[in-house]
Amino acid sequence: MDWETVIGIETHAQLSTASKIFSGAATQFGAAPNVQACAVDIALPGVLPVLNQGAVERAIRFGLAVGADINRRSVFARKNYFYPDLPKGYQISQYELPVVQGGSLTVVLEEGVKTVRLTRAHLEEDAGKSLHEDFHGMSGIDLNRAGTPLLEIVTEPDMRSAEEAVAYARALHALVRWIGICDGNMQEGSFRCDANVSVRPKGAEALGTRSEIKNLNSFRFMEEAINYEVRRQIELLEDGGTVVQETRLYDPDRKETRSMRSKEDAHDYRYFPDPDLLPLAISAETIESIRSGLPELPQAKRDRYIRDHQLSAYDAGVLTSSREVADFYEDVISALGGGYKLAATWITGELFGALKRAGLEISQSPLGSRQLAGLLQQLQDKVVNGKGAKEVFDAMWNGEGEATAIIAAKGLKQISDAGELEQVIDGVLVANPKSVEEYRAGKEKAFNALVGQAMKATRGKGNPAQINEILKKKLAG
Ligand code: ADP
Ligand code: MG
Repeated sequence: MDWETVIGIETHAQLSTASKIFSGAATQFGAAPNVQACAVDIALPGVLPVLNQGAVERAIRFGLAVGADINRRSVFARKNYFYPDLPKGYQISQYELPVVQGGSLTVVLEEGVKTVRLTRAHLEEDAGKSLHEDFHGMSGIDLNRAGTPLLEIVTEPDMRSAEEAVAYARALHALVRWIGICDGNMQEGSFRCDANVSVRPKGAEALGTRSEIKNLNSFRFMEEAINYEVRRQIELLEDGGTVVQETRLYDPDRKETRSMRSKEDAHDYRYFPDPDLLPLAISAETIESIRSGLPELPQAKRDRYIRDHQLSAYDAGVLTSSREVADFYEDVISALGGGYKLAATWITGELFGALKRAGLEISQSPLGSRQLAGLLQQLQDKVVNGKGAKEVFDAMWNGEGEATAIIAAKGLKQISDAGELEQVIDGVLVANPKSVEEYRAGKEKAFNALVGQAMKATRGKGNPAQINEILKKKLAG
């Protein structure tokens, strides 16, 4: 039987506010345990939550960026469950009326573009952390994270493979950083994805029973976990078994998912509106002022690069994979006064290659955008040829200074003097009679060999276009 995979993703994005969603305690990562937990966060009796408007503003930014509806009135609800790191015995979340509803995210795949519909995005508080090591048979509780603002972003079950799920997660990760609502640090838990996975016979209408995989703190683990889970469910069904609705954990060391607990249904949480918090009211003016403050979004930028800069869909996608990369590209082209294709080629090729080898992000590049523009200017002005430019690039990467100085110091200036090149080529023709003969007999390859010889004779500094032209002329004559 042929099976179809169905995936829906829930993401918890930690909103980048300085203080918590319902208290004034700091949210900074890495503090000593329990020093950033105030009376509200540890749930002392008699305290009341006060909503952080910065968290609301970020949720609205997100909603507008994905074309969702912003509910002018939404409601905070208590989600009741017992766990040691949840001192109130409930989590403040949103249930029936979330702040953000609908919207979608378009992702670029190798096969083309895919739109993933969003169900909703709601505000909630994070829980604390249980620490199971270092306490000699006991568990420690750190409440620093309790009350940290989260935006939970839920998709429709629209994805059909692990690759699509990862592409969606990457696009979402880029977007929340792009609009400045979340730092996206996955190691620190600022961006956490759960994957809901089910399979069904190809062509079937009804969804299969899903399992929910938690603990996916990298894109690679997400891909591995989903592929494992799909195989597990298919094998189970083909052996006549049934999938049970449950929460599973991914173990990256053993590369398998395993059952953590049976999945609660919503009624198990006994949701009800939080009587301590008024419904969240958002005015049309607030929404409009946030809308006008949004930067140009990745999708719009990508479309613009394809349309106005004539870049390929691939290059445009890579250059808008993060705001830092797009800013770098725009810096280069503004310094060059154009040169879109040239800038795109060097950034996605030479620069990304060097960054990858060094394990660096573009923000850590030893070579700045202005510096790269300086080199591309020399290339555009034909002061240096492509081969020489690569040498200059390496030297700039190693901190040897600006392009013009490096070209002078290393003698990389391109030879474009027609007389000088003619002399070189005459020598090459005399020294390679066999190639000349072969070319005249119709062998195109022989021409390339002669160009190669001429480049060699100029120690790589000849202007390749000119050499081509002169050679053609001489061979025709
Ligand atoms: P809960 O909040 O209890 O986890 P929801 O019904 O809100 O459950 O769904 C959570 C996520 O699971 C959504 O992204 C949804 O698209 C996805 N989902 C629901 N049913 C399925 C299914 N049968 N297969 C795959 N994904 C599913
Ligand atoms: Mg869920």
